[in-house]
Amino acid sequence: MNTQPTASHFINGAFVEDSSGTEIPVIYPATGEVIATVYAATPAIIEQAIASAKAAQKAWGKLPGTERGRILRRAADIMRDRNHDLSVLETYDTGKPYSETSVADATSGADALEYFGGLAGAITGEHIDLGGDFVYTRREPLGVCAGIGAWNYPTQIACWKGAPALACGNSIIFKPSETTPLCALKVAEILHEAGLPAGLYNVIQGMGPQGAQLITDPRIDKVSLTGSVPTGRKVYAAAAENIRAVTMELGGKSPLVIFDDADVENAVSGIILGNFYSSGQICSNGTRVFVQRGIKGAILARLTERLANAQMGDPLDPDTTFGPMVSAAQREIVEGFIAKGQAEGATLVTGGTRPDKDGFWLTPAIFADVTDDMTIAREEIFGPVVSILDFDTEEEALARANDTIYGLAAGVFTSDLTRAHRMCAGFEAGTTYINTYNLAPVEAPFGGMKLSGVGRENSKAAIEHYSQIKSVYVGMGDVEAPF
Ligand code: NAP
Repeated sequence: MNTQPTASHFINGAFVEDSSGTEIPVIYPATGEVIATVYAATPAIIEQAIASAKAAQKAWGKLPGTERGRILRRAADIMRDRNHDLSVLETYDTGKPYSETSVADATSGADALEYFGGLAGAITGEHIDLGGDFVYTRREPLGVCAGIGAWNYPTQIACWKGAPALACGNSIIFKPSETTPLCALKVAEILHEAGLPAGLYNVIQGMGPQGAQLITDPRIDKVSLTGSVPTGRKVYAAAAENIRAVTMELGGKSPLVIFDDADVENAVSGIILGNFYSSGQICSNGTRVFVQRGIKGAILARLTERLANAQMGDPLDPDTTFGPMVSAAQREIVEGFIAKGQAEGATLVTGGTRPDKDGFWLTPAIFADVTDDMTIAREEIFGPVVSILDFDTEEEALARANDTIYGLAAGVFTSDLTRAHRMCAGFEAGTTYINTYNLAPVEAPFGGMKLSGVGRENSKAAIEHYSQIKSVYVGMGDVEAPF
């Protein structure tokens, strides 16, 4: 596959190049090879993107929702038709195995385009009767949105932000992570092929400074970030300067609580999905696994056994089920946490080593005997490392699960129905699971509480974050005035 894009940026309906920007080599994480080169946006490129997004938005916002939606749904069909090629590109961009990308990336992007395309015609205001006079509300677009993406799900993030933004009548400028710049360009191409007018979905490349320049421009009406908490603080503060709307999808340190009465196989599947899918590089991962003392031995034994079945190999081989880390830098961060876990007294049951291969590989790691105060139980690792902690009672598990600055996700495995619902009601997290973990269908709201974020992506809830309400008071009689 030719992984070199036509040009670095996609602006006003066409590829645009400006090689005077900083060179960004695109590295295939499985081998460490450079597979493409793009250039960070110069101020002139950022200006071009904002000007074209601004110019195109007004007419788009005035179209009937069904007309906007039709284009999004057409784009969803094209994405599904090209799922194979898009999945291969996602694998090159991120290193995630094709066995994952072919079912989780372009497909979930297409789901978002289809869902918000369908919803576009149903975005309405309401009528408020005042017994004569009345008020109606109009749900209007925000204007020009800026989307900033993380590197773990480049296609999905480009669609999770683009689809609701466009459905609501906005335009968007998306800056992918410098680590994974390729996939969003494909999303832009497909949207335009589906009939999206020029200027409504733009992609510019760059690092933090380019992102910062984009979001601080006064013509940007909304900022949506997927990234870490430290970046979230900066981006939220920058958006506050111009009092702009934000969506913040940030990091987590989510708890997964397994009671004695849980089904062992399902709970272990939950641990695997919540810690080792995408080599552990998922924000909502349940990395603090609280296991009730009676079932701990069984869970640990079965988890270790099943982890040995992970197939590390060529990510493009459909049989491979475990890929490399996204970058050398990310692997070093994760290795630092593994060393800290050992130094602080946790037991490394298996994994955490570099296999003798090129690329950024790290074997999946299990830590047992982890206590709440250890670094690996408190900080987001963002790699294939699970921490197993013991507990005795439900009250204790809930209190310890919530004892974190984060609040993205939480899960419980139990066969006690009322306890499951009690736990979810008690979790201080935005996205919770009973007897499963880490599924994120577009129909369900996704997002975090506490430091994990502001706002929600997906579902009808996202509409509120990409539109604003205007009230129209209608006087039906004479106007009374005091003098
Ligand atoms: P990151 O370092 O925070 O970067 C996120 C994005 O922000 C990148 O595109 C980055 O650019 C850009 N950026 C950095 N500084 C900026 C600034 N001052 N102004 C504007 N943009 C700026 O995160 P990451 O390492 O890419 O991704 C991993 C993190 O994302 C983890 O914490 C993970 O939990 C979180 N995440 C959250 C969700 C969610 O939905 N809650 C989903 C996925 C990931 P460059 O990196 O290109 O320089």
